Amino acid sequence: MVNVSKEKKIINIINNNDIRSKETSMLLEAQLKKYGYTISDEFNYNAELSICIGGDGAFLRAVHKHGFPYIPFIGVNTGHLGFFHEITPEKINTFVENYTKGKYKLEDIYLVEAIVCTRTSCMELVGVNEIVIKGIESKVIHLNVSIADNHLECFSGDGLIVSTPSGSTAYNLSAGGSIVYPALKTLQLTPLCPINSKAYRSLQNSAIIPDGMTIKVNPEYRDENTVLIVVDGKQFKYDNVVEVIFKLSDMTLRRLTLDSQDFWSKVRDRFI
Ligand code: NAP
Repeated sequence: MVNVSKEKKIINIINNNDIRSKETSMLLEAQLKKYGYTISDEFNYNAELSICIGGDGAFLRAVHKHGFPYIPFIGVNTGHLGFFHEITPEKINTFVENYTKGKYKLEDIYLVEAIVCTRTSCMELVGVNEIVIKGIESKVIHLNVSIADNHLECFSGDGLIVSTPSGSTAYNLSAGGSIVYPALKTLQLTPLCPINSKAYRSLQNSAIIPDGMTIKVNPEYRDENTVLIVVDGKQFKYDNVVEVIFKLSDMTLRRLTLDSQDFWSKVRDRFI
């Protein structure tokens, strides 16, 4: 065993079920044990770090499953897009060494919250990438949109994406939204196939909304029962939706990074 002064601490390893992730998980566990860490079999809320092996999808599922834990996380990418993931399986040993020496930084990951109100109750939803409001069964949806209580538009089209800075490189980017540096505390409102005709006028571009301002969306009466809310890819259907209020969540996640300058290199490597 390598002699380290650090107390024996707990680390969560979360991996998806593919073979490469399982193999990487075993290698990582062996390396961490050499440095005196304890690896928890089940997700441990007292852990000092969570390591997520797989891709962004696996990371998003883990965060939702464990209730947005404030434990710092880092991702090991095993062959997916892996935008949230900083290390490759080949760099595991270097990572464990640097982590043990305290050579890392922690960054906040901002989250989006939606309060969905029906005629009888309100529900709170939280997303890491985005929360989407759209019509069921590919129907056109008509939504009254206000920002900071100022009416902006009556949107008609497929729907609206409200994305976080970290989620700006996901669905938002495909829908023509902008890439936002993750440290900026903003939301982005991006239209999905907005209709512009003699019948309907909708904004064609996205808008960046600062922290502290809410985005209020009221479906038109005829659409109250055709609203679908999609949180990081997971669908929710409610009846009689009268209002959805979006804002930056008070909760954050914490991402551990060895190289905080790597965001733009990642954009180049993953998208260009
Ligand atoms: P999924 O198959 O889990 O993910 C779809 C793709 O989006 C995967 O390649 C995934 O990376 C990537 N991705 C996820 N988060 C990202 C981020 N922050 N930056 C860059 N790429 C990211 O699909 P799902 O379960 O339906 O939903 C998960 C996410 O997929 C949603 O939150 C949404 O943002 C995105 N999505 C995109 C589109 C689109 O672009 N047209 C449509 C629906 C959903 P990995 O390969 O590493 O998992």
